[in-house]
Amino acid sequence: MRLVPTMMVMIAGLSVPVFSAFATTITIQVADGPGEGFNDSTPVTPVTGNPGTTLGQQRLNVFQAAADYWETKLESPVEITVSAKFDPQPCSQFSGQLGAAGPRSIVRDFPGAPLANTWYPVALGNSLSGSGSSPSDPDIGAAFNSNLDSDPNCLGGAGWDYRIGVQTGSPLQLYSTVVHELGHGLGFLTFVNLSTGSKVAGLDDVFMHFLHDQQTGQDWSAMTDAQRVVSSVNTGELVWTGPKVQSEASFLSSGLNTGDPRMYAPNPAQPGSSVSHWDTALTPDEVMEPYATPVNEDWLTIKAFYDMGWQGNPCLRTDLPDNQWTQITLECQPPGLQNTVADLFGDDISGVYDTDWVIYGYDPTSGYFKPTLNDTLEQGRGYWIIQVTGSTVTLDIPRDSHRTPVQSSGICTSNKGCFEVPLATKPGVVAWNMVGSPFLSTVPFDDLRVVTVTGACSTGCTMSEAKAADIVHDTAWSYNAATPGYDVFSSGAQVPPRKGLWLPTLNQADGLDPKLVVPYL
Ligand SMILES: [Zn+2]
Repeated sequence: MRLVPTMMVMIAGLSVPVFSAFATTITIQVADGPGEGFNDSTPVTPVTGNPGTTLGQQRLNVFQAAADYWETKLESPVEITVSAKFDPQPCSQFSGQLGAAGPRSIVRDFPGAPLANTWYPVALGNSLSGSGSSPSDPDIGAAFNSNLDSDPNCLGGAGWDYRIGVQTGSPLQLYSTVVHELGHGLGFLTFVNLSTGSKVAGLDDVFMHFLHDQQTGQDWSAMTDAQRVVSSVNTGELVWTGPKVQSEASFLSSGLNTGDPRMYAPNPAQPGSSVSHWDTALTPDEVMEPYATPVNEDWLTIKAFYDMGWQGNPCLRTDLPDNQWTQITLECQPPGLQNTVADLFGDDISGVYDTDWVIYGYDPTSGYFKPTLNDTLEQGRGYWIIQVTGSTVTLDIPRDSHRTPVQSSGICTSNKGCFEVPLATKPGVVAWNMVGSPFLSTVPFDDLRVVTVTGACSTGCTMSEAKAADIVHDTAWSYNAATPGYDVFSSGAQVPPRKGLWLPTLNQADGLDPKLVVPYL
């Protein structure tokens, strides 16, 4: 294929070490005895995403994958340790405890504490103060129910679902359960006693600092104990008012009260669940809702963590190796005034633009174009990028980027909405478009659609229908410098985030104004 930009003669600048953001380490510490829990040597068959061949190894793989999940979302200069075990816990045919995790201790008024006289979960306190607790003093405790696997009368006897990296929708998927529970351990919970309303030692905790009752107009921190108890069952009126969540919450199609997302406040109260979760009314569902929740919808949860003081970037960090052309796309919506090439990547790559690194876009009519540092990049478009600083650099886009806005239509294959990418055409010939998914989630190629203003795809086409109508190809290509060559994306393929793709419009596309409809999953 001859579509790769002609390799520029790049003058390598002085090589400067590049410091990336903190790489967070969350360590799972096994607290089980020999032969049980994480050390259970019962042979098992590997399952999707989990190659373990013993029960204990599969359990540990799941916990490590859940730790990896949070490592990519929250930054900590100090190691976070989780003491974890599997033990027999109460369980019957129809109800049982799955497992739980929580902070092992709380701290306040440490060096660098954002709020005085306020309790923080120890993992967050350590992260903010930059000093870790000792490995013998873990930050988070986690205990899960081993009876699911050993007792045929426990929840139907199906056992834990050990698959990783797939949305099973099963409430017994250990991965999504552990991700959720570690969220509590990292601080998604209040320490208020919800039966009395009392605060720990009379002091606020950082979670309740952002709780507010829309009906009474009061913040939780300003309420009496009795008022907090009333508010904790004031269904629909208890909300989160942290500014980072507030500035993002408008994408919710339900679960808002006066613009703020609702917290879980059922009446009567549900001890263990009330207040320390989002309301089940939120649409789309968030990972920190009280029941079996999707792990790929965490935008507000992450922003709530940032409200509480955690650092991080909800969008991707990916490595860009030295001297390799790479096709990229933007997986989040950059903030309005920070979407130039300089804002997006100038902070990641040391050196001079157009000498040490460069970006190219492609227009089917005029060919390659080179954005300036002050030009903006568009979501849904693919771009070439290369850097020759002499070492791998980590690319990210601004921390306060937004979740990509979506729209709904009958053509969209996701009930959460889609993003439509306009495709350029040429009369009677193929026109190569460089595109990309504007989302953080992986998109099955078969869930893409094409829509046109008139003609065969005016009410929407699958990719194969669009190909049959000679409008858009049913195959896309993305350059893989490691091969080197082009990876093929067609029916059955999964399109990962951050990947730029070539997608041609075909001979009959001109005048039909085709759009690629990408689902948000
Ligand atoms: Zn929970």
